Amino acid sequence: MRDILYHRVLVDAGLVAGGGSGSGITPWRGSGLGVARRMVDTFVEEAGRVGPVARTEHPFLNRRDAYERVFPHYANIYRLRAPEESQPDWVLRADNLHLNVEWLRQNRHQGPVVATGGLLRQLRGSGSPLFRERYIWPAVQLNHLVPAGEGPAVLESYRQVLERTFEAFGLPVLTLATDALSSYGDVCHLTVTCLRDGRPTVLATAYLMAAPYRRALGVSGDLVDVGFTGKVLALVSMHHLDRGGLGLPSALAPVQVGVLAPQGAPGLDTWSRSLAGLRTRTVTVAGDVPFRRHRAERGLVRTGTPLTYGLWPDGTWRVGRRAPSRYAPTTPFPDADTVRAELSGYDRRQLDAARTRLRHSVERDGLVRGVCDGCAAAGRVPVFGRIVPHRPARCVHCAAPGSDHLVSEKGRFY
Ligand SMILES: [Zn+2]
Repeated sequence: MRDILYHRVLVDAGLVAGGGSGSGITPWRGSGLGVARRMVDTFVEEAGRVGPVARTEHPFLNRRDAYERVFPHYANIYRLRAPEESQPDWVLRADNLHLNVEWLRQNRHQGPVVATGGLLRQLRGSGSPLFRERYIWPAVQLNHLVPAGEGPAVLESYRQVLERTFEAFGLPVLTLATDALSSYGDVCHLTVTCLRDGRPTVLATAYLMAAPYRRALGVSGDLVDVGFTGKVLALVSMHHLDRGGLGLPSALAPVQVGVLAPQGAPGLDTWSRSLAGLRTRTVTVAGDVPFRRHRAERGLVRTGTPLTYGLWPDGTWRVGRRAPSRYAPTTPFPDADTVRAELSGYDRRQLDAARTRLRHSVERDGLVRGVCDGCAAAGRVPVFGRIVPHRPARCVHCAAPGSDHLVSEKGRFY
């Protein structure tokens, strides 16, 4: 990650603090914690369609024996030796999977459980904020125990949950089924989007856990594991940037609607109350001092606000839109439905722009190709994963019936 423009944008927007870049620990600010919370809430709300979602968090210290029963091979975690032989050794925030499964069993919960606490990993070399970190936060991890045989259908439901969640953040995605992680999952889905420059990158993973894990966890049925991290917000920052700074999708923005008007402007209070279901902020500005109004608006825009309404010095009301940035005349005090329609228009424009970028880079650059099962298995085409749902296409190698795959000459990407 040489280009850390996205990080500067997040710093300028007040989501994370500057400095520490490369240390692998991103210091979040209050406003960024709110954005991360809304990111998780959006996901949890979508996941609610699959089953009643429980939320939990696990302690910082976990028993090393319980961790290593499930993950015997990982060396990149932090361990803490007990001061006395008779006491257990610990691992520091190493994983949520075994703890979530334990929680589900103890609480006899029929549905998914979500934990969001961070994970600690030893880091070689320097990190990249939110991409490659020593303290990965938030680390959103969902686990769901389902009867044997129901896993594939439930995994398909989570594919849709993830795609809808990321679309709400203006991030278009493709889902790939891959064998590259077969030791981990019987079926592995990777939710893939692209960087601003078009290179594909993995946004989320969803697995039907492989038998050795199920055995170690004492699970007799199927086990679904879904995970993503704060990297999602780095991708949002890469894609949704205009000359005013970060334009957050309305689902995430701390302030959805900024209002710039002189103190006590007639009708203002009544209007603000009518927008109660939206996150609004009114900034009072002297109507005849354009510079102050402008500065107040710039502040709102830089911190990610998608939409502003302002009373201009000539007495007219204007709406300030983004993606792209422009002003338009508006009737004073538009009703809440009109304002909501403005916000969905903005969200749609952002998603469309990012989707165009994904199509140009991934699909038109020939990374998506038809491949048949035989050629994929024999490695005659450097397949990274099969696109799900299945899209029939002729094999580029042998012309037999096959389906669309994502190919990667350079092998695995992250
Ligand atoms: Zn073929």
